Amino acid sequence: MWRLRLFICAAILLTGVRLRSAEIESAATLRLQGRYSEAMERYLELRESQPVQAILGLSRCYEETGDASRAIGVLQEADATTAKHPLILSRQAALAFQRGDYAATQAFVDKAIAADATNVLAKWLAAELHRVAGRLEQAEQGYGKLTDMYNTLANVSRAEDIRVFGWAASRAARWNRRAEDFRVLVNDLLPSALEKDPHYWPAHVDSALLFLEKYNRVDAKSEIDKARSINPHSADVLAVDALLSLQVMEFEAAEKSVQRALEIRADHPRALQVAADLHFASFQAQTALEIVERALKGNPRDELLLGRKAAAYGLLDGMQDGPSERMREVMTAVTASNPHCGIFFESIGDVFDLTRKYPSAAVYYERAAQSMPQLIQVPGKLGMIQMRLGEEGRAGELLKQSFAADPFNVRVKNTLEVLDLLQTYAVIETEHFVIRFDRGQEQVLAEHAAVYLEREVYPQVTKLLGFEPPSKSLFEIFSRGRNSSGHAWFSARMVGLPSIGTVGACAGKIVALASPNEMSKPFNWARVLKHEFIHVVNLQQTHFNIPHWYTEALAVLYEEQPRPPSWNAILARRARADALYNLSNINLAFARPRNFENWTLAYCQAELYAEFMLAEYGEDALIKMLQAYADNITTRQAIKRCYGVELAAFEADYRAYVDRVVADLPRRPEEQEESFAALQRAVNEDPQDATALARLARAHLARGARPKARQAALAALKIDPREQEAAYVMARLYLSIGEVKRAMAMLDARLDRREPHAGVLALLAGLHSKAEAWGQATELYQLGRKRWPHETKWLQALAKLYLQSGQNAKLAEVLRELATLDGDNATFRQKLADLAFQRGDFAEAADWANQSLQISVKDADMHALKGQALLEQEKSADAAAALRTALVLDPSRDAWRFILADAYVQAKQNDKAKAVLEELLERAPDFPGAATLLESIESE
Ligand SMILES: [Zn+2]
Repeated sequence: MWRLRLFICAAILLTGVRLRSAEIESAATLRLQGRYSEAMERYLELRESQPVQAILGLSRCYEETGDASRAIGVLQEADATTAKHPLILSRQAALAFQRGDYAATQAFVDKAIAADATNVLAKWLAAELHRVAGRLEQAEQGYGKLTDMYNTLANVSRAEDIRVFGWAASRAARWNRRAEDFRVLVNDLLPSALEKDPHYWPAHVDSALLFLEKYNRVDAKSEIDKARSINPHSADVLAVDALLSLQVMEFEAAEKSVQRALEIRADHPRALQVAADLHFASFQAQTALEIVERALKGNPRDELLLGRKAAAYGLLDGMQDGPSERMREVMTAVTASNPHCGIFFESIGDVFDLTRKYPSAAVYYERAAQSMPQLIQVPGKLGMIQMRLGEEGRAGELLKQSFAADPFNVRVKNTLEVLDLLQTYAVIETEHFVIRFDRGQEQVLAEHAAVYLEREVYPQVTKLLGFEPPSKSLFEIFSRGRNSSGHAWFSARMVGLPSIGTVGACAGKIVALASPNEMSKPFNWARVLKHEFIHVVNLQQTHFNIPHWYTEALAVLYEEQPRPPSWNAILARRARADALYNLSNINLAFARPRNFENWTLAYCQAELYAEFMLAEYGEDALIKMLQAYADNITTRQAIKRCYGVELAAFEADYRAYVDRVVADLPRRPEEQEESFAALQRAVNEDPQDATALARLARAHLARGARPKARQAALAALKIDPREQEAAYVMARLYLSIGEVKRAMAMLDARLDRREPHAGVLALLAGLHSKAEAWGQATELYQLGRKRWPHETKWLQALAKLYLQSGQNAKLAEVLRELATLDGDNATFRQKLADLAFQRGDFAEAADWANQSLQISVKDADMHALKGQALLEQEKSADAAAALRTALVLDPSRDAWRFILADAYVQAKQNDKAKAVLEELLERAPDFPGAATLLESIESE
């Protein structure tokens, strides 16, 4: 009987609840959609009839729109009965916890549980209070009890409660390394909250955070987008979006999301945290610290923020002698209130990782792991740092441990695959370097890299920088394998994710390189190796304290390449627009370039700083600054200490220096890219303007409107018979109907040799060249070269002309200039090697061949040519090595075998000579001279 009655009672109760909650639910929907003012209106209307739900809703609205004091105030203003409601009490507890008032939290939690022993939020907070006090076992029991409670409940009615169960479950899953539980969370538990309420976006946010923890960007982004489509005005959602962008170094997107989040909630702790991280990432620790301090006002016990505060002190004060006094103070205070503050130490490690202070990051990740082995991400993060420090053995152990605990972490998984691949790689070890590479694909490159690094780079760079790394530097060359490109492996090696845009990178002790042999655009690998080794030395000699701009300045300077014309063009434009970087914002341009131009300008200006410092403060100016950075002083202090000037004066002198550089650059012809309409308007306004008519004619020509082009060009020439652009258009029109002579006459008559028009000049020169009138063509191209020295097209045209006309001496001269201007071009160098060899200049031939191999190392012909050139200089051992390489790359060339045998004979290695000749005779029994040479060796 009583069972039935109970059933009826329950039914009445449930209907009652449902009736009341319809209005509350519609208010909640408005709130979840971010329509806060409408939601608040509803809640205010319901405050009398349903005080508990209305007050809870209001409190959330205030919180989510950034009014923290009203969020608490509205709870405190509740009447005595309402105030005792367990939901109101647990809400009070949650807010107290968020502001770090743990005593108040405890008091509210106790009252809430006394009023309702099944209050989910209060039970969660009870466990959390254990955690923040370092009572990890009790905390874990608390999470476990919540999980048990969830499993025994037939139905959880509130989406909010499901979310809290999710928190407890994910904590328990992490701490107990139950990887499978993550799948349940993401696939079942969180979606069930959305079944209760399809507007409940916090479930999407929690899913996103779980994916983010695994570096699974695609799924995280999809969850965040879903949350955003429900509530576009939630600071919580925007903050997670910012975290996601930061994780893949998309700084601009992160900044945008942070700004929007802070517009909604100026006190949002995670948004402020990302804002600080963005400053850390651009080496502005002081600004980051100020933001962190602002955030700490909202919760002085937030371990994530306190970790960032301690790290900021570490960055500002230097870590070479251990933590500074104020950093130590923060650590003492945090460890006193929580002896197991792993999150705090992890946060310090994160900042040092972000600011590339890898040795320090390792120290604090290690401490995080010790003080809280429960933290699932720490071994993986520590493993990644050990990878960057070149400790691959230790990294492997940590990453395997991390993978076992959490197989869904993409970054860890990718890095383990890199380690697995590296197992198959070969090693060349020299006195100062260890080079790892794919034996099948990069043997030749690795051998050449080893020789180049050891013989040329090491002695030069360590002398210039005044420092020798205490241990061998590890260089890894990644090639295509297991269905991924060398570049993808390289990127995975550096960051665990396929997101790096460059071809080489340095993490202080190791350098990784994508195989130059598989890049679509060839690059000078030798230059990249040298550049990266300069970073290796710089980072170690300054205890990782060198700012980005200064190590790039030195790396680019010592590449010893002239500034490329494209850099000059950008520099000139930006200098004239007064949009150059200075030392306070240049680091930002390296870390967060908004586009390719900014990135290029940053390198260009960095190098100019180094040039300026050498010119202004003498030969030892650069080393002095390195010593200052080793003492971890700021750039401002360093400049004062090294050069005795204030930063402002230094900057002013630098700017004057840049202006002098720019003044020496010729102005490019102003290429006015006016719209067609504007050109037409100009003609309408002044039909007698020959220049305007000529431009319009050219625009018509470009659009294929030949009759109109002709009409306008003729009109222009009628007004000004010397109008060059109009002549150019007419010449093009004549050429289109095959009237070459008329075209040439048209151009010839109008070309102004003092103020030539580039189009007229190039077209006329090309026509002369075609007619093999080499003299005229040369004269015109030389005119262009003189007039536009920073445009390589005149040089290229001359090279082509000299090649066609067989003027080898002049060809070599032009090619030398082109090779200097383009450090990544192998073809120019190959041709120069050929030319030098032909004229019997074997030293130069060997040198150019070597330079071409520094770009295109698999060129068998160049190895052979280098070998022959060396042999001619009686450098028989090196010659034999080069010829051997040539034959490895192309074993079909019997002629090379014969020369190799000759080289061995000269090097007095008759056994080897004999072996080569025997092989040769087996392949080609009649090879001229082979048998005779073999006989002469055998008879000796
Ligand atoms: Zn660099």
